[in-house]
Amino acid sequence: MARILGIGIAALDIINTVADYPREDDEVRALEQRIARGGNVTNTLVVLSQLGHRCCWGGVLTDGAEARVIRDDLAGFGIEMDAVRLASSGKVPTSYITLNRRNGTRTIVHYRDLIEFSFVDFAKIDLSAFDWLHFEGRNVPETRKMLDHVRRLTDPPPISVEIEKHRDGIESLFDGPAALFFSKPYVTAAGAGGPEEFLATVHQRRPVTELVCTWGVQGAYGIDETGALIHRPACPPVQIVDTVGAGDTFIAGYIDTRVRGLDIATALEQGCQLAGKKCGQTGFDLRSRKQ
Ligand code: ADP
Repeated sequence: MARILGIGIAALDIINTVADYPREDDEVRALEQRIARGGNVTNTLVVLSQLGHRCCWGGVLTDGAEARVIRDDLAGFGIEMDAVRLASSGKVPTSYITLNRRNGTRTIVHYRDLIEFSFVDFAKIDLSAFDWLHFEGRNVPETRKMLDHVRRLTDPPPISVEIEKHRDGIESLFDGPAALFFSKPYVTAAGAGGPEEFLATVHQRRPVTELVCTWGVQGAYGIDETGALIHRPACPPVQIVDTVGAGDTFIAGYIDTRVRGLDIATALEQGCQLAGKKCGQTGFDLRSRKQ
């Protein structure tokens, strides 16, 4: 078991499942609706906790009723919340998600009006007990300070950062982490020819950083210990049920494999297997379900 700290957001997800994605200005009836905890880093942590790790979340919550859904869910997965900052104003971030039953796509409209977890909050955490630190690549200036703070420790744990969207200065987070996870939208917006070309370019400048790109139904790409580009195919479930958080689940599988000392190719494989399993079920409780 490793001790893993995740820094990022928890959100309230309002998920409407529809038979097919509506046209603009259409009115359609949802097949079902679910309200659940979401947020990239907390998704990753609840999966890691089910893989046997002791996980702690650093982020911001309110004491409003919506925050209870988040708190109860995280507590149910044994996620430690000592590092959580309570905001006296604002609302928890909310993701309005339209899940297309026909093909499994998830279209997200996100709203937030809450302070970000800051470097001052982060600096209060005793980092000596952690074996791995995972960050969402957001709030770039504060996150950069957090990464520098970790780098100054005598024996810093490995860091990973998820690069999901383009944000001003996000490239400044590429230096220092042991592993970077890039999303397909980020790579596509960066204008690269594809994941392989993108990874090869970033690898030239950062040859010792583990670089990973997830690519939806096409699986995941990475660069192994010898510097070779590798690809692992996705592991589709019998039926696609819910792709929300597939990437976060992939990251959990990857981190779990690496903290156990296994190699990068195995980490990509386990990431794809777990993410595929997750796509075949609703939510993140992976413990008792079979595909
Ligand atoms: P995100 O969920 O962040 O948008 P991706 O869509 O790239 O991330 O998916 C992450 C991983 O989840 C992929 O590498 C793949 O292994 C798995 N995955 C995503 N969509 C599917 C799918 N339709 N079938 C099987 N596996 C999938």
